[in-house]
Amino acid sequence: MLLNILYAILLILLLTTVYVVVRTILFQRGQGSVKSFTAVPVDEAEIAHHLATAVRCPTAPLDDTGTPDPEAFRQLHQLLAETYPLVHQQLEREVVNGYSLLYTWHGRDPKLEPVMLMAHQDVVSAPPEGWTHPPFAGEIADGFIWGRGTLDIKNQLIGIMEAAEILLRQGYQPERTILFGLGHDEETGGVNGCKVMGELLKERGIHLAGIVDEGGGIIEGMASGVRGPVALIGVSEKGYLTVEFTVKGTPGHSSTPPPQTAIGILAQAIARLENHPLPPRLRRLRSLYHGIGRAAPLYVQVAFANVWLFCPLLRRWLVPVPEMNASMRTTTAVTIIQGGIEDNTVPAEAKAIVNFRLLPGDTIADVLQHIKKVVKDERVQFSPVPGKFNEALPVSSHQTAVYAGLKQVIRQVFDNPPVAPFVMLGGTDCQHFVPVCDDIFRFTSLVMDESFRGLEHGIDERIPIAGMARMVIFYAQLMQVWGTKEMV
Ligand SMILES: [Zn+2]
Repeated sequence: MLLNILYAILLILLLTTVYVVVRTILFQRGQGSVKSFTAVPVDEAEIAHHLATAVRCPTAPLDDTGTPDPEAFRQLHQLLAETYPLVHQQLEREVVNGYSLLYTWHGRDPKLEPVMLMAHQDVVSAPPEGWTHPPFAGEIADGFIWGRGTLDIKNQLIGIMEAAEILLRQGYQPERTILFGLGHDEETGGVNGCKVMGELLKERGIHLAGIVDEGGGIIEGMASGVRGPVALIGVSEKGYLTVEFTVKGTPGHSSTPPPQTAIGILAQAIARLENHPLPPRLRRLRSLYHGIGRAAPLYVQVAFANVWLFCPLLRRWLVPVPEMNASMRTTTAVTIIQGGIEDNTVPAEAKAIVNFRLLPGDTIADVLQHIKKVVKDERVQFSPVPGKFNEALPVSSHQTAVYAGLKQVIRQVFDNPPVAPFVMLGGTDCQHFVPVCDDIFRFTSLVMDESFRGLEHGIDERIPIAGMARMVIFYAQLMQVWGTKEMV
């Protein structure tokens, strides 16, 4: 009898091990072979010069509301027209709401849904202090193009234009219509640029087959233990919700305080919120690690291939890493607290502001429900701050031809890195096209390592000349692949 039980346990252990191993092998399956391709010819020095000239048009907004500087945009538009004559002869060009640009490269088959490549023309401001080369001088030195916008995201603007000009010179015409959507106020929310452009497309009854906008990239040293560069494609963006909490208490003198003050009640509610965050969802990270595949350490592959078994272990590893934690759950951040002004007076009111970043799958209503359940105190009033909330964006599928086409081009141009989908923590202009497109991807075609950290929106923003040239090759290849009926 005892022996039989022992045999049964051994058998279960053996079967479990086999199951874990088989699932890991299936999980690790390679990405298949890459189709060979011919890169378009590029002139690195000329491309660098074109980007440098674009940097010299200081398209930073004039104020916090994003008021554009008309002269800077006039300069940039003129520069584009002069530098890319074929684009301006053969594509349709529309100015949307004064400054944004919409180009249409008509395909041979007008029945096919168009695709859109995006970049924004505006940049964030840049006080000149601390820069090796002034932020709007557009200097080329030490193998880099220096200045504001070289990484965010005039590189992409010039990359798209340059690629189209080269293809037009070669006599290429796409089968599928290709649009270039170039907003002018992305850094301040895109409400006057791409939002208007999105509405315009909807009015015209245009539905897009795919979009590529900024975000992601080919990242070296993505997470500890992951070997080599990994291409990350953003398939969604987290949502945003700021909630104000208010507690009204009994004001009075601190010599005869009530049993609990407004501050005490609020503090308790905040502590409960921090102690009960929204649940982590490993599913979101699973597709990421599936894409990374063999580049991840073996134990990570085994764990993600068998989440059913290693779920508690994975949580214990990942929750303490802020980036990983933010990638798999709606986060809770207490950012402002107010209450009381005098040491001897019990205040009548205490207030706090908490900022949530919503993982796709969690709605604003879900979070408000969660708050109610966790705080469990009628004395604590809470409501979303007007204008400070938006739902997470829909998740674009990574199992479609349009994704496969993008993935193939990345693998062709960047020496076959693993390609994986992920959820962006911040927002971009492409959010304004959700009503007209289901397949929206955020991918900046640039290899980035530790040395790029802090350069975007920071001091000494710069891009390697070779990286900029490769971006042009990427766009030319993507236009030729997405420009077909099959898109792959
Ligand atoms: Zn940007």
